[in-house]
Amino acid sequence: MARLDIHVLGSPVLRQETERVTQFTPELRRLADDMFDTMHAAKGIGLAAPQVGRLERLTVVEVEEQRFALVNPEIIQRAGAIRWEEGCLSIPDVYSHVDRANEVTVRAQDLDGNLIEVVGTELLAVCLQHEIDHLHGKLFLDRLSLLKRRAALKTWEQEKGKYVGNLRVLPVGDLPPDDADQG
Ligand SMILES: [Zn+2]
Repeated sequence: MARLDIHVLGSPVLRQETERVTQFTPELRRLADDMFDTMHAAKGIGLAAPQVGRLERLTVVEVEEQRFALVNPEIIQRAGAIRWEEGCLSIPDVYSHVDRANEVTVRAQDLDGNLIEVVGTELLAVCLQHEIDHLHGKLFLDRLSLLKRRAALKTWEQEKGKYVGNLRVLPVGDLPPDDADQG
């Protein structure tokens, strides 16, 4: 497994639509493994392919010991409402409360192409919605009010200089532990 560089806000790939996966190859599995590795190294709970510069419609999620690689995921049902403070591995150190559905049902394929359904509530629901947004070029910032978005972007202005070429290169060793919920 390998740690991949994470594309940060400003990298055009984060705004691109992904492509439906039709071939369930060993390369797809390797990409998912590398994405899990990268997500763990960055202390995240979800990571979508565009965040590592790829356009496969693939995301990995790990919330409260539930772990999924989801290919071609779609939300087929939503219920309730929740407000959660979100962060994003592609917008480090920026957090804001986002309104989402409290429960979602996601239909997807696994890495072998089998159809699966995942039902998530609360944090898992938030994470699934955040990651599926990434697969359509959408970021949590887009879901904020104008005022909250301005505040978030102001914070980002002070952070973005750390990321040369809009890339976040993870250190070889472990990051200090923290409890941030980021995807
Ligand atoms: Zn994100």
